[in-house]
Amino acid sequence: MDNATQFLNYIDGQWVASGSGNTFENRNPADQDDLLGLFQASTAEDARRAIAAADRAFTEWRATPISQRARILNRAADYLMENLEQFAQELTREEGKLLANSRDEIARSAQTLRFYAVEGQTITGETFPQDDARMTVYTQREPLGVATVITPWNFPISIPARKIAPALITGNSVVFKPSSDAPLIGYRLAEALHHAGVPAGVFNFITGAASAIGEEITANPVVKAISFTGSTAAGERIHRAAAMATRTQMELGGKNPLIVLEDADIDTAVDLTVKGGFSLTGQACTGTSRVLIARSCKEAYLTRLVEKVKTLKIGNGMTEGTQIGPLATRQQLDTVLGYIETGRQEATHVHGGEHLTEGDYAKGFYVTPAIFSDVTQEMRIAREEIFGPVVAVIEIDGYEDAITKANDTPYGLSAALVTKNFDYIQRFPLDIQAGTVKINRTTTGNLVNAPFGGLKQSSTSTFRESGRAGLDFFTQTKTVYLGC
Ligand code: NAD
Repeated sequence: MDNATQFLNYIDGQWVASGSGNTFENRNPADQDDLLGLFQASTAEDARRAIAAADRAFTEWRATPISQRARILNRAADYLMENLEQFAQELTREEGKLLANSRDEIARSAQTLRFYAVEGQTITGETFPQDDARMTVYTQREPLGVATVITPWNFPISIPARKIAPALITGNSVVFKPSSDAPLIGYRLAEALHHAGVPAGVFNFITGAASAIGEEITANPVVKAISFTGSTAAGERIHRAAAMATRTQMELGGKNPLIVLEDADIDTAVDLTVKGGFSLTGQACTGTSRVLIARSCKEAYLTRLVEKVKTLKIGNGMTEGTQIGPLATRQQLDTVLGYIETGRQEATHVHGGEHLTEGDYAKGFYVTPAIFSDVTQEMRIAREEIFGPVVAVIEIDGYEDAITKANDTPYGLSAALVTKNFDYIQRFPLDIQAGTVKINRTTTGNLVNAPFGGLKQSSTSTFRESGRAGLDFFTQTKTVYLGC
């Protein structure tokens, strides 16, 4: 451990250690003996320094030609792609996801940087007809100031990228705090921006516990925007604590339903369940956690689902052929095992949910995908976000019943419908309470160029992120009356 690499904060253009003198470990969830490195256990004072640096840098950055800002994003994207293989392996080692998923995530992050490098140059205002021929009235958009970006461990580079890129291209300065459970790939993103020539103070990276730096980076009135992705509980706390003039955008939890109507193709429903519920080891905010299925299809569906799940290869994400990796943290393992126990008590256990502890699994956080049926609306496994490979199967009596049950949740992130019935296909986007609506597709996945966000307790009712919506969040509008 003495030889472990120590990764520093990036504040005001310098790589610096925390004033605390303390670090925390980043270990591989597939093999707890594998230590990726030590990261700074930052203090509120470190956070204050980062915010002050961002504040100082803001005025010059907002005046920097947009083509120069775009060039930095493009160069950072190039750096990620040039180092894709190394960074993908590190991402798999720190988070557990399959190597192919890590490669995709890094490539998608580069794509996001490039998307905003172009899209940020298309921001427009409006002009308004009025009576005075010697006056022009128009709107112009401008950056907010210092923005903090706070992100979870499950997409530890693509989520930061889709917040940081629109913030920077529109002229904001940034303080980025990654999750302590997967900080290395966030560090690589900071390295990419440094390498790309981002000016000192414009982008800052600090690691550490929310309990030590959370308040400073969210409640400090110098912070003019907070873009957060994580649990609903943390998001709600941050939103309430933010200063009045601080704009917030909170992307939070989900309890996403896949609705399978009577006419659905069973193999399609099974494929969508496996992809949505079990890939990424169920650790996607848009993951399928409830399957609402027509009574008449249920038995055939469960039989084929179990057959398919039995074939899935569970193991280290670095190993060729692995289909399900470990859970990302010990806390995730404990939470998921707790819900599996709850499921066994309140519903019918159909398959899986075993904690794998022997042989190659001994040093990691492995659980087999779990399926429960006869789940009813009041059960905890039907109501609470589990964030693991656990699917609750609920019977429905037709489309109306499916909608009632699907909407009977505090969350509203993503929802999918499987049917060939055109009437229901048309009605579904109107009836379902979800920010992402899918038809004959998995609940997971969203485009870089389309808006993303949830309804109800899955997001604050403020701004969407991703696509052009990301540019809206990071800019404010002025109305100018220009007479001559
Ligand atoms: P988390 O809420 O525990 O932590 C998220 C981030 O917030 C971490 O960096 C954490 O250190 C920080 N944080 C927590 N409390 C804070 C505070 N008071 N002040 C400042 N920072 C604070 O979430 P997690 O366990 O890392 O991630 C899993 C959760 O994220 C799930 O609920 C999942 O649904 C959600 N998620 C949502 C989306 C989405 O787009 N809606 C995407 C991915 C994950």
